[in-house]
Amino acid sequence: MSGPKFDTLAIHAGAAPDPSTGARVTPIYQTASYVFNDAEHARELFGLETFGNIYTRIMNPTQAVLEQRMASLEGGTAALAVASGHAAQFLVFHTLLESGDEFIAGRQLYGGSINQFNHSFKKFNWNVAWADSTDPASFEAAITPKTKAIFCESIANPGGVIVDLPAIAAIAKKHNIPFIVDNTMATPYLCKPMEHGADIIVHSLTKFLGGHGNSVGGVIVDCGTYDWLAAGDRYPTLTAPNASYNGMTLGETFGDFSFAIAARVMGLRDLGPAIAPMNAFLILNGIETLGLRMARHCENATAVAKWLEQHRAVAWVNYAGLESNAYYAMGQKICPKGAGSVFTFGLKGGYEAGVKLVAGVHLFSHLANIGDTRSLIIHPASTTHAQLTDEQKTAAGAGPDVVRLSIGLEDKDDIIADLAGVIDDMTGGVSARGVIGESS
Ligand SMILES: *Cc1c(COP(=O)(O)O)cnc(C)c1O
Repeated sequence: MSGPKFDTLAIHAGAAPDPSTGARVTPIYQTASYVFNDAEHARELFGLETFGNIYTRIMNPTQAVLEQRMASLEGGTAALAVASGHAAQFLVFHTLLESGDEFIAGRQLYGGSINQFNHSFKKFNWNVAWADSTDPASFEAAITPKTKAIFCESIANPGGVIVDLPAIAAIAKKHNIPFIVDNTMATPYLCKPMEHGADIIVHSLTKFLGGHGNSVGGVIVDCGTYDWLAAGDRYPTLTAPNASYNGMTLGETFGDFSFAIAARVMGLRDLGPAIAPMNAFLILNGIETLGLRMARHCENATAVAKWLEQHRAVAWVNYAGLESNAYYAMGQKICPKGAGSVFTFGLKGGYEAGVKLVAGVHLFSHLANIGDTRSLIIHPASTTHAQLTDEQKTAAGAGPDVVRLSIGLEDKDDIIADLAGVIDDMTGGVSARGVIGESS
């Protein structure tokens, strides 16, 4: 017997007509707090003896539907929705790490995550060790007795690396370390990290899940696969008697969803990055069409990448959905339905050609986001990475010629025509700049 399939869950999981009004769409429960039935009910709620709403910093009914939907789409036991993808990462590590602990992260990551791990986490004395996501053995080599977690992305942003999740999961399992996967770029439509050994999944809901570029959010999914109690005293948030809950041990009381509970009742309760009910509502609406949108995102991205690949002004295209790509085979294993819609390419005209392209397109929006219905473009060397030396830029995958695209849902002919309007001109020799790469 198997349950409902993905596209059905994307519309229905966690939701039911509103019991008091019959509203079919999950309402925006725009309230800060909730009336207790009586004093005993209030006492039970505060003591975690019964589940229920207390205050919207900790939970909210619109948020709860979003959480159940995401847990269901990823196959986990429970989820926690929060204010942003970065807040989700923050709460994951806050739940796992004590001051002085270490974790290992694949260095092919979203730039904001690299900053968060390198700088802000240092203030908590949480220490990142960097490994190479293209070399699973490098994760094992970085393990020390203080290593409490391993973190990587499924499709690594923005380099287009498809990560060998099963190989890294096997190392994590061998050393009994929880494995966290950021599945933002793939979404559960393209990749199910749990099937490849993840214990905890995080997402920026801001990207493809919300899908319309209108709200920031994040989520933690507890896969229920890691046995916290068997890890001795390594994860005290989950296994030590909790002084703020009458000595309760969260890992014992909540079993295979205790990580999601701990992240909520310790992390979210005390650090506070709650998602606004309005944003939870908008993201839920986005998720209803996730399957349709991801299939079209991938179709459009493949068409654009193929067009670029054959263009004589283009030096290279790095999209794992192309058979010529080094990660194509891994993609067939990890995300067989497609490689997403974010990729990079290089113009033979280098830095100046990149600047010219960004300035010349009309349909593409020049901005720092991905996963919108709209096609987006950025030239990292002149924007996000402008302060680095050329050498540093290249090491970060943001060399002078690199252009990053997030292909949207417009008609692919129009997307290609917008790029052609600038790039075709480069090969025409009109500015002479376009042919520089061909002679060098
Ligand atoms: C955007 C992004 C994040 C951070 O999410 P926010 O919602 O912007 O905080 C983390 N990981 C990846 C892969 C992202 O693309």
